[in-house]
Amino acid sequence: MTEEKYRAAPYLAAVADTAPGERNVGFDKVQAYLERFGYLRESIVREVGVLDDPTEGALRKYQEFFELPITGIFDDATRESMMRPRCGLPDPQAGELAFATTCAWTDRTLTYAFDTGTDDVAGNAEFDAVRRAIQTWQNVGGLTFTEVALGSSPDIRIGWRPAADPDHSMVGGVLAHADFPPGCSVVTNTLPKPVHFDDSETVWSVGAAANAFDIETVALHEFGHIVGLAHSSVPNAVMAPTVASNFTKRALTQDDTDGFRSLYPAAPQAWSGWNSLGGSLTSNITVGTNADGRMEIFARGTDRAVWHRWQTAPSNGWSGWNSLGGVITSDISVASNRDGRMEIFARGTDNALWHRWQTAPSNGWSGWNSLGGVITSDISVASNRDGRMEIFARGTDNALWHRWQTAPNSGWSGWNSLGGVITGPAASGRNADGRLEVFARGTDGAVWHRWQTAPGSGWSGWHSLGGVITSEIAVGNNADGRMEIFARGTDNALWHMWQTAPSTGWSGWQSLGGILTSNIAVGSKAAGRLEVFVRGTANALWHMWQTAPSTGWSGWQSLGGILTSNITVGNNADGRLEVFVRGTDNALWHMWQTAPSTGWSGWQSLGGILTADGALGRNKTGRLEVFVRGTDNALWHMWQTAPSTGWSGWQSLGGILTADGALGRNKTGRLEVFVRGTDNALWHMWQTAPSNGWSGWQSLGGILTSDVALGRNKTGRLEVFVRGTDNALWH
Ligand SMILES: [Zn+2]
Ligand SMILES: [Zn+2]
Repeated sequence: MTEEKYRAAPYLAAVADTAPGERNVGFDKVQAYLERFGYLRESIVREVGVLDDPTEGALRKYQEFFELPITGIFDDATRESMMRPRCGLPDPQAGELAFATTCAWTDRTLTYAFDTGTDDVAGNAEFDAVRRAIQTWQNVGGLTFTEVALGSSPDIRIGWRPAADPDHSMVGGVLAHADFPPGCSVVTNTLPKPVHFDDSETVWSVGAAANAFDIETVALHEFGHIVGLAHSSVPNAVMAPTVASNFTKRALTQDDTDGFRSLYPAAPQAWSGWNSLGGSLTSNITVGTNADGRMEIFARGTDRAVWHRWQTAPSNGWSGWNSLGGVITSDISVASNRDGRMEIFARGTDNALWHRWQTAPSNGWSGWNSLGGVITSDISVASNRDGRMEIFARGTDNALWHRWQTAPNSGWSGWNSLGGVITGPAASGRNADGRLEVFARGTDGAVWHRWQTAPGSGWSGWHSLGGVITSEIAVGNNADGRMEIFARGTDNALWHMWQTAPSTGWSGWQSLGGILTSNIAVGSKAAGRLEVFVRGTANALWHMWQTAPSTGWSGWQSLGGILTSNITVGNNADGRLEVFVRGTDNALWHMWQTAPSTGWSGWQSLGGILTADGALGRNKTGRLEVFVRGTDNALWHMWQTAPSTGWSGWQSLGGILTADGALGRNKTGRLEVFVRGTDNALWHMWQTAPSNGWSGWQSLGGILTSDVALGRNKTGRLEVFVRGTDNALWH
């Protein structure tokens, strides 16, 4: 971390430590500070210069928001914190959400204009810095900003002003101020809304400079207020109230975009088709998020090393594959340190836990280090409310073991047992009040859980949530803070259970139907609605979603594809979900929500939305069966339920077709279909018995440049014909 020399509010340095009931010279200035930033209401009667009861209550709230020891005493830590340069707007009460929001603009198309600049930087560099900060918020999606002339009635007016600013004083330690949208304003009830920088007490810079403040960094924070965000208690967030000199923070964190999304939910969005990210993978896929919002994916290669690739910009394209080395024997787990550095965990060939971490946020990686232990499961990572990571794994005694960071971003405790006899990896979640909770399957097949009795503190005993589950447990957090867990039942359907209120008791199990052939992945960012992804029959990807935040569920819908792994869900910085799977070719495939506009409807029946002519076959029993490529490029089929009579509904056979398929009948009467995949290889799938069920997709390899043609030999053997890259006919 940068050593911060700059001190604001220097008058606080002279105020002595003050305990409850004490009076000290200058303590009235501490009370004024607490009132100025929203901790001590002006109307509250207090004894000036004395740390009385109302002042102690305010001081404790301040210490809680800044995650200081909550002593109720004006002490060194509190004085140091209050002397940090900061924004002029008040802090909200520490609530359940790290970010806090005020209200949103009803008009989503805003205008801004520049007033007076500063002489601290050359030319109009200060305006360009503000324009970049505005663009960063606009990139999240949901609000647009257009620059206009000062005389064109802008919604926002940006300028450098004296510290004794008439609309909101910035005298003493305040760098800048803005205001919230109309309807929740604290500075002015009229337009334009101010974004004002202190030009008399503060030195401004473009980039990090000693004793100066980066304009883009502060502008990004102030425009967070303009869009409707209040201060966040997450120290790493752009919306944290304080900022250092000689420092830049020009990218939004997850906390900031979460806050933005809660004000401006993304519209229900459509999905792209499948795209290959290549590679040859031998594990499930793991997704992490860099401090700057770029997703990064991890998987084990054929060499059993960890390989990764990352978005080159938030919500954008991907780097190539790179190896992080090691020889691992589990899936990879990833979590972010409080300061934004990602850290990955996996089991080594010695069955110990190994990890490596980014040496700086969004940056390079340490070497592998062992955390010891002898573990017999994948690893679950959770973040305590104070940012300390905590990891959970099963030991050789089948009990749940854990270890935790002893301080945020710092070293680790030894292994400790949480007891129990569990039959799979643990799943962990965090309650709305900050308490971690772990879930695991017991020897009776039921879900068992235990929880921290206070945030970051000791643990309850094991308790059963009942049920008989046949998958790992997935945990989601509803928009209102209630946890919800998902697992596959003995009927292979998806079952779920939820907290009936944040941080409190649980509903019973309920079925969401479906036929699952994988574990469950849960995404939760898009518009605050949970969305679950599973592999269904025929190895296709299926999903369902809450129809409104924290409420009911859609039916199952297919996203096609041919999956050979569990599903992983990533969150783009702009709120779009993206899913990752391993295909039958062992390559990584992904698909993502496209820009807002189209709804989710459309894919429960085919309803005549075909992208190719169908193929028609006749089963051995005489029943017709039709095959078409759907708009999802998956192969869909329906069949007569008896010869010459009614038809079944459409069902997906998955797959990713780039051309019309060819259909043949084997000598034994089994139908067989052939298609070109997006990898241009020849793929096929066949009935496992005449007139009966279907195999999964299998690749026959090759590189095709044509549709597939099919013949039948005299002996009854099928023969396929295609054009290769050499334009020759291949069969
Ligand atoms: Zn602020
Ligand atoms: Zn002002």
